[in-house]
Amino acid sequence: MNYKLIILGSGESGTGAALLAKKKGISVFVSDKNLIDKKYKEELLQNHIPFEEGKHSEEIILNAVEIIKSPGIPHKVEIIKKAIEKKIPIISEIEFAHRYKGNSKIVCITGSNGKTTTTSLCFDIFQKANYDASLVGNIGYSFARQIALKPTEWYVMEISSFQLDDIVDFKPDIAVITNITPDHLDRYNNEFSLYVKSKFQISKNLKSNDTLILCQDDPATLEYLANHKLTPKIQFFTMNEQLKSDGAYINQNEMIFRMNGEPFSISINELSLKGKHNQYNSMAAGISSRVAEIRNSAIRESLKTFVALEHRMETVAFIRGIEFINDSKATNLNSVWYALESMAKPVILILGGIDKGNDYAEIFDLVKEKVKAIVCLGVDNSPIIKAFQGVVHIVDTNNISDAVKESYQLAETGDCVLLSPACASFDLFKNYEDRGEQFKNTVRAL
Ligand code: ADP
Repeated sequence: MNYKLIILGSGESGTGAALLAKKKGISVFVSDKNLIDKKYKEELLQNHIPFEEGKHSEEIILNAVEIIKSPGIPHKVEIIKKAIEKKIPIISEIEFAHRYKGNSKIVCITGSNGKTTTTSLCFDIFQKANYDASLVGNIGYSFARQIALKPTEWYVMEISSFQLDDIVDFKPDIAVITNITPDHLDRYNNEFSLYVKSKFQISKNLKSNDTLILCQDDPATLEYLANHKLTPKIQFFTMNEQLKSDGAYINQNEMIFRMNGEPFSISINELSLKGKHNQYNSMAAGISSRVAEIRNSAIRESLKTFVALEHRMETVAFIRGIEFINDSKATNLNSVWYALESMAKPVILILGGIDKGNDYAEIFDLVKEKVKAIVCLGVDNSPIIKAFQGVVHIVDTNNISDAVKESYQLAETGDCVLLSPACASFDLFKNYEDRGEQFKNTVRAL
């Protein structure tokens, strides 16, 4: 049997694309090298979409007119190489879904850090403004599934650089790059410039009336701009300059948005999300909303009331006047730096897990200034102990229960216990969510 469209990978994006293809009457086949998750398998069966799992049948795949590749599959795998040799077009799920978006509009957010926070905040503003919008991409439904099941007038989308790699005509109306710092370089031949280029793919098809929103304080962004001429309107957000052009900046505790010369401001003390990194995220989400012509009152209301996302600087409880904060998503030092920077009270810091080659000197100054003790939580805590010996009091633990108990004992009323580990979680936990959940349950049981 010949299928017109082959989908490689059957996660949320692959299954979403299959549902959309089926709905549009395209003959489609799903192939996954691994076993398909039960939830998605049932969906494929229910919708009479043919599939295979545990293998890629070349005789089927290499006869396709077009292939949709899951962002998780690298270009260097055998089946992709063969498809490229046969000149079969390989696209991403967002590229496919984009063909069916009709007159709807897209706000698309990418970057190294802050994607989920900025996207969720932006979506919250759209909801407060009663816009017909949905949250898609890495969070929520895949773009294709949303279009297949419930199309909306606006899509607020989080995407990674992997998803941007295979776009051809995909075009958002409003695009955001939160920041660009080294990440996932293994996928880009260890070349930072290729990773930067991949992030800027977001602007590839933007027209002169579309808007690209960028961080003016981000060196990699500025370097790219100095060497490339871009078509869309650019709006910056910054903490270092009082902008005269449209965009957002911070001046003496006021966050100021400019649009068509019209300023709108909100005090940073009123923002519900704390920390400098969240001021950046709030500016990016606020500018996107203003470009989408959302009224200032909805933006103000959302920025004041938005509830922090789980596992990102999430206050879990106050016990004996001690605040417990779950920042389990902080798996690199850059995130821990921003977490500590935002703390106004003495901190007992829980650090540890699988160290990806951290240079802890990056946070020495903040640790000396704000941290009373470090409680290590990992199978091998030696890199942390070595780095902080003599800098601050250190306790060595290997399970969540001991880590929470020790932290509680070290803390006094008015202090804060902060789980912001700077490391991956796989030595003791399934993933960062599991680490955060276990932390919260243990704290609540104190
Ligand atoms: P992403 O979706 O890009 O991984 P998240 O919003 O989930 O980003 O945040 C991941 C981690 O990075 C959290 O620990 C968070 O506190 C931190 N973080 C959030 N926004 C920023 C930012 N703009 N710059 C640096 N770190 C950030």
